[in-house]
Amino acid sequence: MTFSAPTTEQLFVLRTITGIEELASFERFAEATPDLVEAIVEGVGEFAAGEFAPLYRIGDTVGARLVDGAVKMPEGYAQAYQHYVEAGWSALSAPADHGGQGLPFSLATVALDSLGAANMAFALCPILTVGAIEALHHHGSDEQKALYLPKLATGEWTGTMNLTEPQAGSDVGALRATATPRGDGTWSIKGQKIYISFGDHDMADNIIHLVLARTPDAPAGTKGISLFLVPKYRLDADGNPGEANGVKTVSIEHKMGINASPTCVLQFGESVGELIGGEFGGIRAMFTMMNNARLNVGLQGVQIAEGATQKAMWFARERVQSARAGAGRDPVAIIEHPDVRRMLLRMKAGTEAIRALLYYASGFVDRANLGIDGAREMVDLLTPLAKTYGTDLGSEIASLGVQVHGGMGYVEETGAAQYYRDIRIAQIYEGTNGIQAADLVGRKLGMGGGDVVRGLIADVQRDCGNHPALSALAGDCAEVTEWMIGASVDDRLAGSYPYTTMMAVMTSGWLMLKQQRAAEAMLDAGEGNADFLSAKLVTTRFYLDRMVPEACGLKAGAMAGAEQLYALDAEALAG
Ligand SMILES: Cc1cc2nc3c(=O)[nH]c(=O)nc-3n(C[C@H](O)[C@H](O)[C@H](O)COP(=O)(O)OP(=O)(O)OC[C@H]3O[C@@H](n4cnc5c(N)ncnc54)[C@H](O)[C@@H]3O)c2cc1C
Repeated sequence: MTFSAPTTEQLFVLRTITGIEELASFERFAEATPDLVEAIVEGVGEFAAGEFAPLYRIGDTVGARLVDGAVKMPEGYAQAYQHYVEAGWSALSAPADHGGQGLPFSLATVALDSLGAANMAFALCPILTVGAIEALHHHGSDEQKALYLPKLATGEWTGTMNLTEPQAGSDVGALRATATPRGDGTWSIKGQKIYISFGDHDMADNIIHLVLARTPDAPAGTKGISLFLVPKYRLDADGNPGEANGVKTVSIEHKMGINASPTCVLQFGESVGELIGGEFGGIRAMFTMMNNARLNVGLQGVQIAEGATQKAMWFARERVQSARAGAGRDPVAIIEHPDVRRMLLRMKAGTEAIRALLYYASGFVDRANLGIDGAREMVDLLTPLAKTYGTDLGSEIASLGVQVHGGMGYVEETGAAQYYRDIRIAQIYEGTNGIQAADLVGRKLGMGGGDVVRGLIADVQRDCGNHPALSALAGDCAEVTEWMIGASVDDRLAGSYPYTTMMAVMTSGWLMLKQQRAAEAMLDAGEGNADFLSAKLVTTRFYLDRMVPEACGLKAGAMAGAEQLYALDAEALAG
């Protein structure tokens, strides 16, 4: 089986869900003409299939290795990364005044969709660089931007995010890395960071670490955190990488998946850093850095779902087992059996649903950057939904991919298991899905006194009158929302996860309905690819009729409160 990027689907969703043509009507994105958009989507799709996909297996079987204190990527990675930089794929949405192409974030989302579907672990590297670019662009000084942004934009240098320490995971405020003034405006950074993705590698000339640390006498908790830029190599007078900056790769983790992504323990020993934004502005800058990264991690669910689905489809057509019940004696390909059909359609429809959710959210990132009213709030609301549901459903789809392969899925030979192992981390990093759900019922539900959430539900309700299951789910979401607003903190948090899923399925269902209507209209008008559009009618119906109703069943758990969860004390529960 060879991977091919789903470009017809991507272009359809970009047009019908993201509204790429409307975005291009703004001067800032005027270059995103339909021809250019199509050329980019097709071009990056071909690149992903030709350069990233062939390296997916070796990334897993060989993986990144630590050799004499430096990370060596598997064979072929450095060259493919070089080609990626030369082709300009890194610079798509990076700021135009600093070496980027200034195109919509939603177009970069499509590029990342293809790259990660071909090779998720490899495509994690650019996600981190985007986070560094965002933080620098919004919080860096003019001098810092001029020095670092152009090379990050092109991908010649890569970025990392350094939050986690052994005692500070979800609780970022517990971090202890220190920053001490050196008297010349720079800072001396000391401490150990763990789990740093692409903390070291041999694909780029420099690595720009963005590090959260505490300055002397900083207040405890998140209020006392500042963000520092710490290059692997300090820049010389010409702005080129010079002497090493005391960042030591102590070890790399042995993991369940994404073995091509080196997950490093980094020791900063008197490394020279520059403050980004003001002292104690670390949390604000960190959120800038993480916000788009969270959407991009949600997108990893789409990437894996796409790859796993393509693999399962191929296998199901090849593998012959048993006659189809009631249809003669000849054994048939397993794709003919009803339960395999169920799995394959669930995989295909689910992939399309989370792609729509992610592309919808990315459109709001662009609208927020254009300063359009209410867009920032929509990004804030959609981010926990997209991160959580994108990665949850992506994991479920990868698991179904293993199931479709039967025993061949569980043994490593076919590669179905790699998708399953790779995606599992996406539910954990960039804020675990549990933390995302807490964010939804904490910060996000409270936006505008609840009116941002109510507004989304009302939009769905206005638009879905003719679909009973979606109407019912939107009604349930409205009811749970009001209950949540009036509930105690404990009760709210106890139901946060099922509520997040309900809201995400409602939104995805609505976006599938929109696609169904667009496909019908195009078929009626004799436009577009009829085979693709006819398939779209089937997958949207499958999602709306079979997957949306499942989410109505979550209402009871969302409103059940916390009391039962504490009916056993910790000793009785775990003892
Ligand atoms: C492969 C990999 C790559 C990573 N890359 C990076 C990186 O590049 N940079 C970086 O800084 N970090 C990175 N991380 C770290 C990652 O972001 C953390 O693992 C994650 O934030 C969770 O922290 P933790 O592992 O300490 O889990 P914990 O915080 O100990 O959480 C354990 C469990 O408890 C739950 N939990 C914890 N607190 C709460 C709460 N208040 N309410 C409800 N539930 C709670 C969590 O949801 C989780 O289920 C990476 C991790 C891995 C494994």
